[in-house]
Amino acid sequence: MEEILYGSTRGGEKNVTASQAILKGLAEDGGLFMPDRIPVFDFDIEDLTGVSYQETACRVMRLFLTDYTEEELRFCVDSAYDAKFDTEEIAPLSRADGAYYLELFHGKTIAFKDMALSILPYLMTAAAQKNGVTNTIEILTATSGDTGKAAMAGFADVPGTGIIVFYPRGGVSRFQELQMLTQKGENTAVVSIHGNFDDAQTAVKNIFGDRAFQERLAGRQIQLSSANSINIGRLVPQIVYYVWSYLKLRETEEIAAGERINVCVPTGNFGNILAAYFAKRMGLPVKTLICASNDNRVLFDFFRIGRYDRNREFLLTTSPSMDILISSNLERLIYLSCGADAATNRVMMRQLKSVGRYVVTEEMRQNMKDFVGNYADQEEVAARIRELYEKTGYVIDTHTAVASAVYEKYRAETKDETKTVIASTASPFKFSRAVMEAIRGELGELDDWEVLDLLKTTAGIPLPPAVEEIRDAEIRHRRECDPAGMEEAVAEILKL
Ligand SMILES: *Cc1c(COP(=O)(O)O)cnc(C)c1O
Repeated sequence: MEEILYGSTRGGEKNVTASQAILKGLAEDGGLFMPDRIPVFDFDIEDLTGVSYQETACRVMRLFLTDYTEEELRFCVDSAYDAKFDTEEIAPLSRADGAYYLELFHGKTIAFKDMALSILPYLMTAAAQKNGVTNTIEILTATSGDTGKAAMAGFADVPGTGIIVFYPRGGVSRFQELQMLTQKGENTAVVSIHGNFDDAQTAVKNIFGDRAFQERLAGRQIQLSSANSINIGRLVPQIVYYVWSYLKLRETEEIAAGERINVCVPTGNFGNILAAYFAKRMGLPVKTLICASNDNRVLFDFFRIGRYDRNREFLLTTSPSMDILISSNLERLIYLSCGADAATNRVMMRQLKSVGRYVVTEEMRQNMKDFVGNYADQEEVAARIRELYEKTGYVIDTHTAVASAVYEKYRAETKDETKTVIASTASPFKFSRAVMEAIRGELGELDDWEVLDLLKTTAGIPLPPAVEEIRDAEIRHRRECDPAGMEEAVAEILKL
């Protein structure tokens, strides 16, 4: 198998191995690591029907992570995708109202972030060993609500690592907040910031770019890495479940051999849908990638007019994990669509930083035509949750409902009846109040636990252990700061 090397989307670092790219998280010039080419399947997808999720993961990931041995990769996969998931299938596919819901929330923290963050700590520690790294790897992560908990669940008490999570105060659901604030583990820290997700993500990127600070850390045998989807080690495991969903559709003969499917993804930072695009480029028969946004419809506007413009009001919605105006992973698509020309990408990213917008060329738009964007506002999201429930009894969370509502619009507008997989990114229990309000209307005086119980009865599914876990858990984290004080907070936490 030919080795794949990684380089920065902004042209700085080149010829970095997969394990080095995972260790670093972000390139030194602020760019994101990209493979020097997207590998194609070295198997016939038909031959894979019936194999396990773990086997699928090994077959797909080895094509990207070429400096990991088969044994290393298998160990990472088997350690990640085990009984932590509440179903042997890891990511089951449910059919409802003419679409297929790929349930990515059966892991420990009941959001799709578990799919990649269960394996990232193993990939990271294997990478440290391979590269003779003896420093402590400190993970800095900005979260719109779900990454923080899933990353801490993965890294808690992993020897040689630590993790600090920053989340926007008031910008996550109460359940998400409690999940984070009660996190155990001597090496975990949580800080709420007075700002939104973009502020948190930008400040984390700035800390990565602060050379003097890196040196201070190095003096204490600490180096930084990222658990956000800017880390290529997050993206690669996310490709697997799109391949898996296709195998499931073949197994149940919902589709014919070679039949193309559409994929519809509720999108924020553009990581999940980018993984679907990678799957397509690798050879998965995918036709259209439907990028679903909430009221923060910056990506909808981008795909419609070819201009990215973050200069707009940041709206807090019932799908907080998608409340983002700077979609970091779009940079990887920009880079690909200008023919991997780092100079062009760099100019656009500079414009994004300085004036908050950039315009892509007509040719680049042509190269992105596998994507279509649309959005659903909060009323449409609530209406869709209720409609799907009333029609089928199937209950989806607010993020999945953004995708579901967008898919209905897409189907009505285009008459495209291609079978479609909708990425179901969170358990409805994680956003139970918004989900129950959508189904029942005003909930009056019901407290959070009563709402959870009501949802349990309504959906006819048991409360996941992740819910029980926080019921009596003690609050362990109380730190807060301004975005400008984040570096100082890191210094304090690490006792520099
Ligand atoms: C993170 C998240 C998203 C958005 O995924 P991206 O990869 O950032 O586009 C959507 N839904 C839920 C529930 C999430 O946690």
